[in-house]
Amino acid sequence: MRRKFIAGNWKMNTTRAEGVALATAVANGVGTQADVEVAVCPPSVYLAAVGEALAGSAVGLGAQNCYHEAKGAFTGEVSPAMLVDVGCKYVILGHSERRATFKETSADVNRKVVAALAAQLTPIVCVGETLDERKANRTKAVVREQLEGSLGLLTAEQVVKLVIAYEPVWAIGTGVVATTEQAEEVHADLRKLLETRYTSQVAASVRIQYGGSVNAENAASLLSQPNIDGALVGGASLKAEGFLAIVAAARK
Ligand code: PEP
Repeated sequence: MRRKFIAGNWKMNTTRAEGVALATAVANGVGTQADVEVAVCPPSVYLAAVGEALAGSAVGLGAQNCYHEAKGAFTGEVSPAMLVDVGCKYVILGHSERRATFKETSADVNRKVVAALAAQLTPIVCVGETLDERKANRTKAVVREQLEGSLGLLTAEQVVKLVIAYEPVWAIGTGVVATTEQAEEVHADLRKLLETRYTSQVAASVRIQYGGSVNAENAASLLSQPNIDGALVGGASLKAEGFLAIVAAARK
């Protein structure tokens, strides 16, 4: 049985005080209930402060990115071990904004996934097609290519430790959510791909989140699908009430 997993990607938003207030409200709302896994991913400079606000709750702390090297002359970068050191359990990798704006390739994502796993972090590996790719009927090929490239040569033992997020680029921050059918179709394809590359047990145990304009209104329908195991939430994670409503939808 895959436990539903709702994660909030705050992106480059909030001040320190706003982040702490938001995390406190989410922590109070979730309390110690662990039936649904919940995490928030603030900007890296606020990780420690947000982690303190989450203390004692079941809400986990996640980062939005990391570098694949452990330490050294990599100005501006943060290593997986540093994230663990400030209390992170998760790290989002290969988000479409990093792929598009910072030119990260799936090979880069794979190096980060390997490093994150080695540091005992749970990577949330993002894949998703652009609108042009969907219109050209290339969705399946694009997400397959991104998933295969991002997983690289990971073993079954490694793959069961990560989470996949299907995030169609055209649905991110646009208010245009994928229909439950569109999302479920891709999730089922991704699971099939895991089964082909690994085993049916691996495919059955890996959680696949949906991301892209998830909100309190559409969450229940998306989360009712057999292959949708949670949500990676951007905009709607910036207000505690809306985010907690998504967590509540995952409980049903
Ligand atoms: C995201 O960027 O991961 C995301 C899903 O954003 P939004 O929910 O705002 O579409």
